[in-house]
Amino acid sequence: MLIFQRIATFFVGFAFCFCGLFMGSGFDSTIRYKQTIKDIPIYENTINTAVPQTEFYNYINDFFSTPSADGKVKKAIVIGYDGCRADTLQHLSADNESGINAVMAESDSQAFLTYCGGVNYPYINTQNTSTAPGWCAMLTGVWADKNLVDQNHIIKSDDYPTVLTSLVESKTIDASAFYVSWSGHFADSDATYISEKNYCETNNINVNFVTAADHAGTKQNVLNDLAKTDCSDFIFSIFESPDHEGHNDVFSPYNENFKNGFLNVDKIGYDIFNAVKARPTYENEDWLIIITADHGGNCFGHGNMTIMERMTFIVSNKELLK
Ligand SMILES: [Zn+2]
Repeated sequence: MLIFQRIATFFVGFAFCFCGLFMGSGFDSTIRYKQTIKDIPIYENTINTAVPQTEFYNYINDFFSTPSADGKVKKAIVIGYDGCRADTLQHLSADNESGINAVMAESDSQAFLTYCGGVNYPYINTQNTSTAPGWCAMLTGVWADKNLVDQNHIIKSDDYPTVLTSLVESKTIDASAFYVSWSGHFADSDATYISEKNYCETNNINVNFVTAADHAGTKQNVLNDLAKTDCSDFIFSIFESPDHEGHNDVFSPYNENFKNGFLNVDKIGYDIFNAVKARPTYENEDWLIIITADHGGNCFGHGNMTIMERMTFIVSNKELLK
């Protein structure tokens, strides 16, 4: 069986290489991808030791479950860069106002590779390298064999609540908030979290599910929350520009539009990072700040098994990977 998978992977990779040439984006090969990842200095691990994205759930849970040593109020914020390929971080520059650079400048910061798509890389993925399966694996801590979300427009199993809900329901935190602009998260009738949203509303569980018209609206919603004295304890936000540029053009860091999609979202990350630090109560708070992605991309899209689609990343102001 494995030999057939390898042959299939070869032909898919071959097709994508030609696609890259026709798109004028260069020879977007696996070899160049692997070398570029190695050359990005902030990654502490390698493609071979990439961590399953489901570990994200444990990082959040462990952070809130451990009391702050100095009695500070624990808060966490996640800034999601949807569809940002892990090798796009080659464009980090000291000249830009960059959320990733700002987080990495913190004393205990860390960046490492994660992977989406289910089961250990490089085996064939068991769930699409797409938006809903990616974020849902992170938020529930399990793959689609349990949470059921193996593609977009699947309602998540109620048996695996997101960490946004479980932390509030267990009274570990008072409130959480989920800020997005894509209707497939919880606005559509077949949205991933529609059942969980209804459950929280019916049972007065303080999880705020908010869909904005676009990601400028999501940014404003996050900034409005951070401006409150008693802001949400856990804020999870998703910004779309790498994914949009990829679908409009091509998922490649060698493409100007995709690169600019990254720089655009990384500026949003920078503004949100600064809004956290500017809180008047910041010195009395213990913030976990994470920037991450749900999936990568290759050529015209994502959803498949190539390494460019499967590798993702976590950038954190605290050491998460021990
Ligand atoms: Zn996505």
